[in-house]
Amino acid sequence: MPVMDVLTTIGGQAWAADAACGRGSSVPHDAFFARGLADIAAVKRYCTSRCPVQEECLEDAMRMEESHRERFGVRGGMSARARRQLAAQRRKAAEAELEEEE
Ligand code: SF4
Repeated sequence: MPVMDVLTTIGGQAWAADAACGRGSSVPHDAFFARGLADIAAVKRYCTSRCPVQEECLEDAMRMEESHRERFGVRGGMSARARRQLAAQRRKAAEAELEEEE
């Protein structure tokens, strides 16, 4: 099953129809949940070079993961680890902004 079938079911987002990993993709959905660094890098390159909805995918993942607190696989051209770091950076930036306002 293409990975975007899973993501569309979860998110129901309109942008998913344009996803490079959607129907007709030659990349199996398991590839987006690779564990090896070389495999993860290959999938990230696929997202970055082939997908017109990379930004939407990344932000959808960030929203979903913020509430679920779990991160799996490559989304929006970023590994789960990179998204965890991005979430931490965004939280710190939001906290700093709040402190400036006080
Ligand atoms: S950015 Fe990657 S995971 Fe996200 S929709 Fe595009 S190809 Fe799929």
